Amino acid sequence: MVLWRGLVAGVLVCGVGAAQRLPGGVRPEHYSLRIAPDLKAATFVGSETIEVVLDAAASAITLNAAEIEFVSVTASVEGQKQIPFGNDKQEKNDKQDGLTGQNGQTAAVTLDAAKEQATFTFANALPAGPVTLRIAYTGILNDKLRGFYLSKTKLRSYGVTQFEATDARRAFPSFDEPALKATFDVTLVVDEGDTAISNTRIVSDKPGPAAGKHTIAFAPTPKMSTYLVAWLVGDFACTKGKADGVPIRACSTPDKVRETRFALDAAKWTLHYYDQYFGIKYPMAKLDMVAIPDFEAGAMENFGCITYRETEMLVDKKDGAIAGKKEVAETVAHEMAHQWFGDMVTPVWWDNLWLNEGFATWMESKAAARWHPEWKYEQDVAVELDETLELDAQATTRAVRTRAETPAEIDEMFDGIAYGKAGAVIGMVENWVGEEIFRNGVHEYLAAHLYGNATAEDFWGTQARVSGLPVDQVMEGLVAQPGVPLVAVSQTGDGSAAEAVEGRFLLSRPRPAEPDATRDLPLDQRNPAIFYRWVIPICNRSTGTPVCHVLFAGQPPLVLPRNAATPFLYANSGDKGYYRTNYAAGELAAIVAHAETGLTPPERIGLLGDRWALMHGGQGTVGEFLDLALAVKQDPNATVLDSALGKVETIGRTIATDGDRARLDAVVRQEFGPVYAGLGAPGKREPWERAELRETLFEALGEAGDPAVLAQAERVAKELFAGHKAGANAEDSAIVDAAVALAAAKGDAEMYDKLVRVGRNTADPDLKEDTLRLLTRFQAPALVARTLEYAVSDEVRSQDSWTLIALLLTRRETQEQAWGFVEQRWAAIQRKATVNSGARIVEATGAFCSAERRDEVASFFAAHRVEAAERTLAKSIDSIDDCIRLRAAQEPELRRWLDAHQGP
Ligand SMILES: [Zn+2]
Repeated sequence: MVLWRGLVAGVLVCGVGAAQRLPGGVRPEHYSLRIAPDLKAATFVGSETIEVVLDAAASAITLNAAEIEFVSVTASVEGQKQIPFGNDKQEKNDKQDGLTGQNGQTAAVTLDAAKEQATFTFANALPAGPVTLRIAYTGILNDKLRGFYLSKTKLRSYGVTQFEATDARRAFPSFDEPALKATFDVTLVVDEGDTAISNTRIVSDKPGPAAGKHTIAFAPTPKMSTYLVAWLVGDFACTKGKADGVPIRACSTPDKVRETRFALDAAKWTLHYYDQYFGIKYPMAKLDMVAIPDFEAGAMENFGCITYRETEMLVDKKDGAIAGKKEVAETVAHEMAHQWFGDMVTPVWWDNLWLNEGFATWMESKAAARWHPEWKYEQDVAVELDETLELDAQATTRAVRTRAETPAEIDEMFDGIAYGKAGAVIGMVENWVGEEIFRNGVHEYLAAHLYGNATAEDFWGTQARVSGLPVDQVMEGLVAQPGVPLVAVSQTGDGSAAEAVEGRFLLSRPRPAEPDATRDLPLDQRNPAIFYRWVIPICNRSTGTPVCHVLFAGQPPLVLPRNAATPFLYANSGDKGYYRTNYAAGELAAIVAHAETGLTPPERIGLLGDRWALMHGGQGTVGEFLDLALAVKQDPNATVLDSALGKVETIGRTIATDGDRARLDAVVRQEFGPVYAGLGAPGKREPWERAELRETLFEALGEAGDPAVLAQAERVAKELFAGHKAGANAEDSAIVDAAVALAAAKGDAEMYDKLVRVGRNTADPDLKEDTLRLLTRFQAPALVARTLEYAVSDEVRSQDSWTLIALLLTRRETQEQAWGFVEQRWAAIQRKATVNSGARIVEATGAFCSAERRDEVASFFAAHRVEAAERTLAKSIDSIDDCIRLRAAQEPELRRWLDAHQGP
């Protein structure tokens, strides 16, 4: 799955719920599903046959079911013959036996709603061996974007599915655990004129059974987990292509089919690349990708039938912005990587979800960067690494591999740690062992577990064997233990550098000095606050080729002699290492002196991140950080500059008093104004990267109150709303988005109304989403109030509702008002809530920076518990505390620096 990146960062700590796993002893082998949805009534009728094997004789079978009403359940053992996959034959069987079964016995069904389980009890015990369960049931098409649900456009409803992690049980009674793989054949009875899409290709499509209906049967699937089953019903339209002989379709609602072409190109390229990379051919007979109007996540890797949020798949191939294309290419690459990593080989349980998500997260940018090297994904990866390290340096972070038993705990696993940290660790290992050796390890791991399940040990054990390097120790240390290692680089008396893993880096909590009495115990019994047993590959770089070696935490420093060829020593070549680095003053000075000439852009992003984090953690001053930010102000890469300016903006938001903020703004104008002016007028077709640089500087200067920039922003916004084509002249086209955002901050009701109309009338999902985001930029209290009410109205889709509230909660100018709304209108927010939206609002409260708000947030969410948000709440409280400490420590430092920089 790709998380919706609207705001998501990540999450932490541990609430232990009651185990909800199935009792075991029953192995499903094949499901035959016949589903007849009624899109108007929002219900469906299901009939299901499950071939199971019992380990021992039993008079009860327990499986998963939620929001399902059972009509009848029978079990038969005689004949032992498999129910044929073809549904005509199944129909005949159903007729012969009757659903209540002449040659089977009827079960009494008891439901445990809390555990989402149903137990079938039989008067006579069923023997060990094969048993056929026949189940007739009904279900609802819900509006919560999970299970089998309704997605609506102005014209009609669609019936679509989203099963990961634990929602297949809402669509069909099932053994809904990832290790209980089976084959499936799906049949859908749909309205005339509608089509259906599922994991496999269509094998028959016949009129009936009733007038106005037709029945579509799909080919049997390979052995797979329940969470990867999917079916979609509606009038989808598709563009078609082919790669390595595999037919590929990119589909959407009919009005948007033109926007599917770019994703189709991405899939064609990626399929061939993965066939080569994995050394295992894409296993399905076809690949479909479908953009869905209402979708909770970013995308979902259903085997052979990938589903997407519209904004993650649809982009204009000809005129779409590069940023939009980059995101679509990455999302397509992510979901397609899962077809191997996750779909073909699946973790045994959700605690190893990171194996799926870490791998797909790492692979998405590797593949997309290979397709379009000029899009510089390596810089985005460096930014993501920095964000992940920030998240993982909180005291409330979790280990990548964490116990998760209940659906709520499992849902909460889909966070910045499972994606970002696991992906970064995999990237670090590849960089260290070498691309080709790592690829061989991936191939061997997949080949050994095809259509089965695997554990983390299987993965890193294979990589260690193939490379002959301690990959297992490196990965176990970073996966089983929470937190970020801190590498220290000091100078010895003779001028050599000395490197050591010092311990855990924390944003706020000082590292304890006492020795750790638990350091020799097994990992999970050690005191996590004190000692960490990390094994870290460090790749050092100066002017020549990087040299890697392995550091063991707690060992004496490794001494690296220096010579004339090492004018500086950067201890994180390519910014691939998962650690923070603290340099002795002389080492740092040498690096900063070479930052623009000797470091790569990702390394500069890493350096900025390290210095920011160390300051946050009390090992540096805000003034030192600002000096570094100014040292890279001429950087030609928008991503590097954005990294620096984003952190400067955070200083203004969190550390500065109102008076100091005005002075900091003056520094930004004075230092970056000339850089912006130096860009000159844009040419007719400016390269995208230079346009991004222009927009980054324009927005930062506007935020800092530059009068010329603000005047231009207002003019461009006015022209745009007067109906002129966006950025008709080259001068304006690069900055049009930033201009509207800046103008909106000071915008009035008239502008607000125009924006609402634009969003309402457009069919373009990207523009719709942009207008929603822009509404959160307005700062006039009456307009903020309108945005908040709009968010909980029927006009805004559930998938977007929380984003509006969360964005208002994270901005200094609007957060107080938004919090008042959350407290007063919680019931209305809940009414629009989807599986994860409550948690995202809890997460956004982490942007506060006062003890008063911290206590309010804690007590409010203690009284209004949010599903799957326990760790998130702890993390938000932690973030607020971090911010309070940061402000207390650095506010005087900021004033000192401002005095020195521009006079008191
Ligand atoms: Zn994923």
